[in-house]
Amino acid sequence: MGLTKIKHPSHSQHCLLLKYPQEPYQCNGCMGIGFGPCYECEHEDCSFYLHEECANAAPSTSHPFSKCSLKFHDKVPQEGERYCDACGEDVSGFVYQCKHKNPHDFHPRCLKLPRTLTTEDGLMIQLRKKLPSKCLYCGSKETSNRIQGWCYVSSSYQYCYHIACVKNMILEKWRKGYFIQDGNVKASYLALQTFNPSREIVLPSGKSSSKAKQIWSTAKTVIMLIISALFGEPTTLISVLVQQLLSS
Ligand SMILES: [Zn+2]
Ligand SMILES: [Zn+2]
Ligand SMILES: [Zn+2]
Ligand SMILES: [Zn+2]
Ligand SMILES: [Zn+2]
Repeated sequence: MGLTKIKHPSHSQHCLLLKYPQEPYQCNGCMGIGFGPCYECEHEDCSFYLHEECANAAPSTSHPFSKCSLKFHDKVPQEGERYCDACGEDVSGFVYQCKHKNPHDFHPRCLKLPRTLTTEDGLMIQLRKKLPSKCLYCGSKETSNRIQGWCYVSSSYQYCYHIACVKNMILEKWRKGYFIQDGNVKASYLALQTFNPSREIVLPSGKSSSKAKQIWSTAKTVIMLIISALFGEPTTLISVLVQQLLSS
């Protein structure tokens, strides 16, 4: 973890403090949302936030999944629709881009995704460039949005998820306002208790129901881990919200 108080050129008028917000926030750097610790302007009126990865983005970097050398930009250098080659989401702020004619783009946060995640039961999940078998969420190897994208895969290939799919799952709820209502997470938590979510996952057919339950329970753990990797470790409240959204 970095320094607790910094100055950042994107908000040079005030200092930013490393905080653990109780609510999800939108990063003013990459414009993506976040759940975990972040840099927040010391003046609360500013509502200025930066992901740790965005605040500490190095001027240039590389990633083992890409042959390109990547340069940091605080604004997208090209006009037109750009999207991240890892997660498929739009890039509209801080971005790493290569020098190719059709450049590759990456969110600073996506380049810092952990290469491996481990569940409490010791199940290992690996970050991969390509999906070796179908994504349990969309049922396909390709994502619906433009790219194949990176994915997280368990060692047995039983649990495979596109990063794009897990990200969409959360962003959809974010856009619909499940996480914040009138700026109040607690209010939306109450709203959720009367909300009856559908099962978010394609379960393999032909399995006995206890087997299916077990698969679903592991899948939920895997999805929660991926969500934490993508958005930051959620506070207890956010975590309960997400669990509610995943439960059937
Ligand atoms: Zn960011
Ligand atoms: Zn400020
Ligand atoms: Zn490139
Ligand atoms: Zn991304
Ligand atoms: Zn998928």
